[in-house]
This record gives sequence, structure tokens and C-alpha cells, in this order.
Amino acid sequence: MVGLALVKSIYALPTWTKVVALVAEHWRLQRVLGCEGNPPSKWSAYRFAAKLRENSGSVERCIDSVVEGLKAKLPTYGRDLAIDASDMPAYANGQRFVSKDSEVERNWHTDPDASWGHRSAVSTRRGGGFFGYRLHAAVCTATDLPVAWSVETAKANETRFAADLIDTAQRRGCMAATAAMDKGYDQRPVYEQCAERDCLPLIPLRQTPDVKRGDHRPPECQHGVWTFAGSDRKRGATKWRCPTGECKPASTWVAADRLHPLIPRETKRFKAGYRKRAAVEREFGRLKNQWGLKPLRVRGLDRVRLHADLTVLTKLACALSRARGQALNSS
Ligand SMILES: [Zn+2]
Repeated sequence: MVGLALVKSIYALPTWTKVVALVAEHWRLQRVLGCEGNPPSKWSAYRFAAKLRENSGSVERCIDSVVEGLKAKLPTYGRDLAIDASDMPAYANGQRFVSKDSEVERNWHTDPDASWGHRSAVSTRRGGGFFGYRLHAAVCTATDLPVAWSVETAKANETRFAADLIDTAQRRGCMAATAAMDKGYDQRPVYEQCAERDCLPLIPLRQTPDVKRGDHRPPECQHGVWTFAGSDRKRGATKWRCPTGECKPASTWVAADRLHPLIPRETKRFKAGYRKRAAVEREFGRLKNQWGLKPLRVRGLDRVRLHADLTVLTKLACALSRARGQALNSS
């Protein structure tokens, strides 16, 4: 039955009915799944999915063990993260009324857990509202593989979930030493949550009043702008030096906060690390277009969550079997 979930994601099939039909037609798939001559019915597939939703702990444990396996094979997996959220339009159109005049509530086509959210413009796609869910994910920038993720209703603010993603990554044994996030996460609580988890944030600044005032700039003196001279994680501060060393004292510590992160924004390390944030965007694209995350053919938060969990789990299981140098059909 777990094999059916793998087939569903590998062939990017939207419904269990299609999965069962595919398996019924192909004896090779039946052999791989260990059900040659006796393919499962769509009813047993849907019953299996229902059982998984009731027992979400078993899916979680399965994900944990695959992540642990990847960690053992790929030492850099989970060290540097890129965090972002991506829209998942619901299998419903978000209209509560069939027509404005009659005001007849149409409740058989809508998804009660989905909500209206906003997405920003990406290259040629225009920004605007969408109805559905968002997948919040932390992706490893070295391997392009997801480490932690969660599905939430679209209107929920993305900054609320960064800390949970880092917690999940660390619970699964990943280091999460740095986390690159876009401007949407440039909120003071995100920096505090990162500091509590010993994770260095790589987030560009929004033009808030203190930034316009220049409070984020390095210290200066008559000799010029002071240069970065390292950071001390334990102390939670960065060190800056007078360019000529003539000032007394010639260096000073600046406590880390949103305006003065431990990896200063003017350093090469920040720029290189932030550039790797694209890993999370790439992974969203692959999950949606190659692994069948999109389009949703289920409604309700628990069903959408299971769909996302099984999709990402399949992707990770395939990566693990590759990393172990084994064929998929032996897993
Ligand atoms: Zn000076």
C-alpha cells in the first residue's frame, strides 16, 4: 500500500482512482508492488488514505526515518536552509454564492479549510489573490532536498511558520546553521526565533523607518566606514574595526538584531548564502510540476496535508535510494 503512494507521486497522478487503474494495467508495476495478478481496488486505496490521515503519526515517523537516512548518506543535508511558502490553489473556486442575486449558499463545492491569500508577482506571472493553501518549506541548499514542511491555509502569515520549520529540521537531526528567507520574513520575531535556535538568518531588509534613517549601517568615524572583523555566536554580536586603527578603542562589538545580523548583509558570505535561497523556489517548481503536488484533487486541510506529505516523502525516498545506490524497486 505504501508502494501505491510512491506510484502516485512518481507518476504525478492526481487521484487514487488513476493510480489503481495504472497498476491494474501494468503487471510490471504489480510485480514491483508485490501484488501481481491481484491489483488493489480503488476502494482499498481510499481506505488506506483515510487510515493514514487518522494516524498521521505513522507518516511523520516514516518521514523522520527517511530524513535520518539521507542525513547519514549526505553529510551536508540540512546544514543550510532556504525557507519560503508557495501557493497551492484549492480544488474549489472560493465563491460562496452561486449568484449574488439569489444568495443561495453553495456549500457542496467549496473547501471549508481553504482561504484567500496573496501571492507576489514572479517573473511573468502577475501577483494577486488566490484561494487555497500554502506549502511552507525548508529546503537544503546543498542538495535541493526538502527537510521540513507544513501545509497551512492561504491567509496564515508565512512568518509564523519559520520557527516551526527550523524546529522540525533540528528534531530530524539536521543542523540548520543558516536559513535564507526573502524580505517577507524581515520581521523582528523571526530574528529572535532564529537566535533561540542557533540558526543564522540571511534575510534582506525592508525599507522600514529605521532603515531609511540608516540605523543598519556599520559604525563610522573620521577615518571612514568601519570594517567587519568577525562575529561571536556565543556573545551574539559582530565586531567592527576602524579602517586605519587610529581610533581608541579601535574596535567595537555590535549586538546582533534585525538591523545587525551575525552574518552582516555587506559580507560575501551573506550574498553567497542568500543567492542559494533559489533552491526553495526550484524545489517548489519540481514538486508541483514533476511530482504531482499540483493540481490538488482533494479538499480539507488534513487531506491536503497528507497529499503534500506523501508527495515529498516519495521524493525523499527516491533520493535516499539513489544515495544508497540501490534500485527503487528494492525499497
Ligand atoms: Zn577611526
